[in-house]
Amino acid sequence: MTDRAAGFDLAARTALVRGARAIGESGMVVGSAGNLSLRRGDRMLITPRGAELEAIDPRDLVDVALADGAVSADHAGDSRPSSEAALHRAVYAAADAGAVVHTHAHYATVLSTLVEEIPAIHYVVTAFGGPVRVARYETFGTDALAAAVAEALDGRCAALMANHGAVVAGRDVEHAVALAEQLEWVASVYYHARLAGTPSILSAEQLAAVVEQSRALRYGLGVPAA
Ligand SMILES: [Zn+2]
Repeated sequence: MTDRAAGFDLAARTALVRGARAIGESGMVVGSAGNLSLRRGDRMLITPRGAELEAIDPRDLVDVALADGAVSADHAGDSRPSSEAALHRAVYAAADAGAVVHTHAHYATVLSTLVEEIPAIHYVVTAFGGPVRVARYETFGTDALAAAVAEALDGRCAALMANHGAVVAGRDVEHAVALAEQLEWVASVYYHARLAGTPSILSAEQLAAVVEQSRALRYGLGVPAA
């Protein structure tokens, strides 16, 4: 199989452009902050460095080897991979994910300066595998940050990054975008609940019941369990 055949077709590029536009228009990023990628085998397609997510040219998406971060020899454009390419590669190494979204979403970023985790304030945390940890602060774009986030993702598909933002790992781009939106929502709920008082937190048993109920309803609807 040639490098090109193993690479990313128009459908993959379109899916990533569409996801980037959704994140760009969601208000979860300011300026060129935030980046997305999708994975196929041992390669990822990632948004370009310094790009406005609302208006990415599919040809500027960069095909990168997960093993060493090398850009595909087929890449014709002038664009370079996102400065957080190492973070995306580390997430794929740590989690069985098909797509990754990183944002500087407002409430996730506010909480990343205040707490060590988003606890089970709402049952939607089960979508992330449980309470969401905050990865320790490291400089953006470094392997140290990538390692800290990989640690915080243990058994989870979402993490906050101290004094920085948020990252989620989904089955595909659509799922990752939905997780990013859900994470920002639960971050806002926790922030406001903390501001108003001392929120009650769901127990491990209550969360287990949520997981069971989700399964039961999915089976009932004939939808395969995710
Ligand atoms: Zn960032």
